[in-house]
Parts: sequence; C-alpha cells; structure tokens
Amino acid sequence: SRRTIIAGNWKMNLRADSAASLAKGVCDAVGENPDVEVAVCPPSVYLHLTSDVLAGSAVGLGAQNLYPADDGAYTGEVNAAMLSDCGCRYVILGHSERRALMGETDQQVSEKLAAALAGNLIPIVCVGETLEDRESGKTEDVVGTQVRGSLAGLDEARAPGVVIAYEPVWAIGTGKTASPEQAEEVHAFIRQLLGELFSGEVADQMRIQYGGSVKPGNAKELLGQPNIDGALVGGASLKVDDFVAIINAG
Ligand code: 13P
Repeated sequence: SRRTIIAGNWKMNLRADSAASLAKGVCDAVGENPDVEVAVCPPSVYLHLTSDVLAGSAVGLGAQNLYPADDGAYTGEVNAAMLSDCGCRYVILGHSERRALMGETDQQVSEKLAAALAGNLIPIVCVGETLEDRESGKTEDVVGTQVRGSLAGLDEARAPGVVIAYEPVWAIGTGKTASPEQAEEVHAFIRQLLGELFSGEVADQMRIQYGGSVKPGNAKELLGQPNIDGALVGGASLKVDDFVAIINAG
C-alpha cells in the first residue's frame, strides 16, 4: 500500500530555458492522475520558475538541500520556509555528493530533517555505502549508521512521512546499477532497522527509494522488488523520455 514515488534529482544541471522545457515535458507526459507520485528537484535558483511551469499539474517540486535555521545571517543558504515559498513539497537531504563534497554529517542531516518537517516539507533522506565499504563487507554497518544518525530525534509520529533513498555511491552516475537482488537486500535491511527504531507498522508505511543509474531498461525490475518503493533518478531525469519511461515502470 506504499505509493511509489519517482523523483528526478537534476543536480547542478540545466539553465532557465532547459529547466522550464524539461518540467513542461514531464507535466505533459504525466497527465493529471499518474499512478505514481512524481517530483522533480531543480537547482534552487530554478525552483521558482519550475514551480510556475508545474502549477496545477500532478508533478511535485523538490529542493536538493536546505539550511536548518530561521532567517538570519547565513550567507549563501536557503531555509525550509523559502523552499515552501517557492512551491516545494519535497527536499532531498544528505545526498552522497553533499556528504562527500561538503562534508555533510549524519548529525547535520538530522538537523536538516527536523527543519524540513517543521517546515512541512517531505524529506528524502539519502544513505548509501561506497565501493570500498561494500568490498570490505561493511555495507550494513555503514548504511545502518547513516540511517540511525540521520533519523536521530525523529518522532515516530512523523516517521511515516519521511522518504529514505538508498543510493549506493558506486552506482551513482557510473552506469553500474545495483542488481535488483543487491538493492532489495539493503532495502529489506533498512526496513528492518526502521522497525527497530520505530515499529513494524511505521516501517511498513515508510517509503524507500532506490537511486544509482536508474534507467528505463532497469527500472521495472528494480521497482518490482518488494521493498523498493520508488526511484531517485539523476542522469536519466534530465531527459523527458527516459524519465517518463521510468515513471511508467513504477
Ligand atoms: P544517477 O541516476 O545519475 O546515477 O544519479 C543518482 C542520484 O544520485 C540521484 O540522487
């Protein structure tokens, strides 16, 4: 009964004109009542214009990050209230690129999670192991630590509204997808952990997306796994046809 959620993470790509036409293409193809929940997550400077394009459509808008503070002296940052004001419904938190490039920690992700929920945004919390972690048998250790740390302080009553994205770092932008079995194994592990942190009932309601080289050709098999409830799509979300084919596989 978990509703499939397909989100496009546009990362640091596109310009005003190409962002608008991509958003328009997705809206037109998705129609008014898609079977799955769909969102696109543009760079923050294009949120407003994308929101205008998406207005009245079934496609939701998401941001790629937020800063967990009220208005104030935080040069270069944007907060949850600003994202809402720009029409966002979702926010991606703790993406592996931010963890690697900006040194984002589980502690910071947990603060961002609290700020997102306080601002009525649906958080998409990213976790995932590196190739080195996997090859040394530490996948569950690493992912488990990230889930516990990133969700620290999360109230059980709010947990069902939180989306987790499992994105193995070695599968991001590499064309190497986790096999459906590899992905399902980690998703099942995450759900079991959510059951321990909250309750089995809550864990059953929480959606866990897979991310990492999701393409039209592998989406159906991945999304067919019992614990895979959606996809967080990078590269393939930049092409209308590919992204729509992934949505239609959901
Ligand atoms: P790719 O789909 O380009 O591998 O990126 C996945 C990702 O990082 C989505 O957040």
